[in-house]
Amino acid sequence: MAELPLSELLRLVVWLGLLGVIFIPLERLFPLKRAPLLRPQIRADLAYYFINGLLPRLLLIVPLSALAWAVRHLQPIPFYGWAASLPWRERLLLIILVAEVGGYWGHRLSHEVPWLWRFHAVHHSAAHIDWLVNSRGHPVDIAFGRFSALLPVYVVGLAQPSAASPDFLPMFYTVIATTWSFFVHANVNWRLGWLEHLIATPAFHHWHHTNDDRRHFNKNYATFLPLMDRIFGTHFLPSKRWPLSYGLLEAQEGELEKASVG
Ligand SMILES: [Zn+2]
Ligand SMILES: [Zn+2]
Repeated sequence: MAELPLSELLRLVVWLGLLGVIFIPLERLFPLKRAPLLRPQIRADLAYYFINGLLPRLLLIVPLSALAWAVRHLQPIPFYGWAASLPWRERLLLIILVAEVGGYWGHRLSHEVPWLWRFHAVHHSAAHIDWLVNSRGHPVDIAFGRFSALLPVYVVGLAQPSAASPDFLPMFYTVIATTWSFFVHANVNWRLGWLEHLIATPAFHHWHHTNDDRRHFNKNYATFLPLMDRIFGTHFLPSKRWPLSYGLLEAQEGELEKASVG
């Protein structure tokens, strides 16, 4: 990171203000678990917010450029370019669906492959879950998650990873996915009935963070669509219960030390 443009910093400060204005009152009005406003580790999570607002994008420059190069070599194939003629709304919906599959498997691999888990364990170290915990993560883990969601989008030709004419839709997808991720971490006691079958909610993702019972580990990987977890056999969402506690087991904390952000 040679230099940090002021506009980037300003963008992150404005986003943080907007997120705070939405989530701080909601978490005060509908708290799932009582916590002071300045709860433990808030400073670390704010630091993660700024680091992860900047670093993962830089980490992705090389892999996305390599992908752009590879995809250019696919373009003589007739199938390629089919998406360019679609209206943007349809293309966005397809991008969300395809990115959801890629994101599901990227997240699942982050739990199942020990080398990836070392990075992802940083996110799971949170013993208290609220909106800002969404930011807690190793930048490598965040970059890997974004790359796995976008990889199939580019490979099937739903967007062009060309640096010459940046495609707005994958960026838009990343913004809505990140915003939704803040919501599913929120410390709110909402249960949303049938909607929970359709879309990821705080209850859905809070169960992803539970450390209550090993039988409930490694569930609910999806970003938006619980259907992904149903299809791939990792769905777990009791209709009324919430997890009692969150975080890593002692045995898992050793893994975390190996991936310290430094
Ligand atoms: Zn996870
Ligand atoms: Zn999470």
